[in-house]
Amino acid sequence: MNKIGIDLGGTKIEGIVVDDNYKTIARKRIPTNQANGYDSILKSIKILCLHLAEKTSVATQESFETTSIGVCTPGALSLDSGLIKNSNTQCLIGKDLKNDLKNILHHDVSIENDANCFALAEAKLGVGKDHDIIFGVIMGTGVGGGIIIDGKIHHGRTNIAGEWGHHCLHTGGNSCYCGNKGCVETYISGPALEKNWYQLSGLNQSLLEIIQNSDNQNFANWKKTFLDNFALSLSNVIDILDPDMIILGGGLSNIDFLYTEGKDAVYEKVFSDTVDTPIVKNLLGDSAGVFGACLL
Ligand SMILES: [Zn+2]
Repeated sequence: MNKIGIDLGGTKIEGIVVDDNYKTIARKRIPTNQANGYDSILKSIKILCLHLAEKTSVATQESFETTSIGVCTPGALSLDSGLIKNSNTQCLIGKDLKNDLKNILHHDVSIENDANCFALAEAKLGVGKDHDIIFGVIMGTGVGGGIIIDGKIHHGRTNIAGEWGHHCLHTGGNSCYCGNKGCVETYISGPALEKNWYQLSGLNQSLLEIIQNSDNQNFANWKKTFLDNFALSLSNVIDILDPDMIILGGGLSNIDFLYTEGKDAVYEKVFSDTVDTPIVKNLLGDSAGVFGACLL
């Protein structure tokens, strides 16, 4: 059975078709055009699905019906209403994306948030293969996490399992858009780290520029704060979940010192003297979203 996976991002929508062995049959990427609104996004996804179906042997009505469709989206799905909340693609907030897609496509659709899709893809097809319990994190513009146990997403009683980015690191700390204070995301997301650098150095630089600016007298201080927060946030995960592997994704996963000094800093804070949890870089890169969507 062929599988269509759609990764709905803030700037682009990517679609892929894979076969039973997750071999890519067709792939296409189109702009999201958020400015044109929600209905335009729905239509774009429909056009993308039909294009992918046509590109493969699923063009006939019958086989399109047996092809699964999964969608990876930013934001969380409310367990009560099924509506999307906390999405950085603003026009999705409060929308019933799953049912609206089902109606426009005349086809069942599975839908999951991007951090869960990332963790699932890496656990089953990426660097986490052969491990039972995986904690996957996305560290980029936002920060999120997903828990995979025995090949399945662990959602939890109220669908918030793995929402690592919004657990409290510092009581009364930085204000977060979610309404709480001290959330992980307000310390180790890309924008939070750039803001911290600006406060220390007065320089308005991107994360990439900051990393390349290690001679700056403020760099050591900035890096220490970053690693302290990184270590505290992941040692909490190991203390509670004790996963077989932690996989880093998102733009910040390209920072090499997270896998050396960062890992050591995490180990120092864990409540165990035998900690050896691998903290590794993702294998699938930007493709984790579409593959995760195929696996739903
Ligand atoms: Zn928060």
